Amino acid sequence: MKFVLASQNPHKLKEMNDILSAHGVEVVLESEIGLHVEVEETGSTFAENAMLKAKAVMEASGLPAIADDSGVCVDALNGAPGIYSARYGGPDLNDAERYQLLLNALRGQTNRAAHFTSAIACIFPNGDTIEAEGQCPGTIAFAPQGTGGFGYDPVFFLPPLRKTYAQLTPEEKAAVSHRGKALAVFEKKLEEYLKK
Ligand code: IMP
Repeated sequence: MKFVLASQNPHKLKEMNDILSAHGVEVVLESEIGLHVEVEETGSTFAENAMLKAKAVMEASGLPAIADDSGVCVDALNGAPGIYSARYGGPDLNDAERYQLLLNALRGQTNRAAHFTSAIACIFPNGDTIEAEGQCPGTIAFAPQGTGGFGYDPVFFLPPLRKTYAQLTPEEKAAVSHRGKALAVFEKKLEEYLKK
């Protein structure tokens, strides 16, 4: 089964295909089918924004669509940047400038607790939907470490592994990450759905 991913993010695509391909699911970027759908993320939760993105791409493509809306929520910042993680500091920053801004916001702060959330939404052309969510607890490091991954990976530290997301292999990240957990729930729900 083929899903169009409502995103331009090749890292998300790879993380999804790494997990879902074993289940006969192929995810393609919207750009691979000639689409670039601009979706205003007007929801107030990750789940609402994921469904807004998936629905817009399903309507534009006529194909089953899947979306991930995700972000990092920092306790000492009352949950910020949260659903605004991609836009934290404005649209012109690159990933490194964005995580640096987060490190600056936490300068002198000893409470570094944070978690990542991923909400997965999928919608079929007949209107049926599947939703799943996953979280990964961690802390915000004092300095970036590691070169893997994307986004805030170099500053998201996992105390049990003593590594940041950016220091994990793709397989290690998939086993513990917010997206890996959300996709595991999604896989189960999709299996049930396809049996009906
Ligand atoms: P979205 O594409 O609107 O869901 O934005 C998600 C943003 O959260 C991304 O641009 C990243 O900055 C951040 N993010 C989400 N997942 C991850 C991850 O696995 N690692 C690092 N940053 C992430």
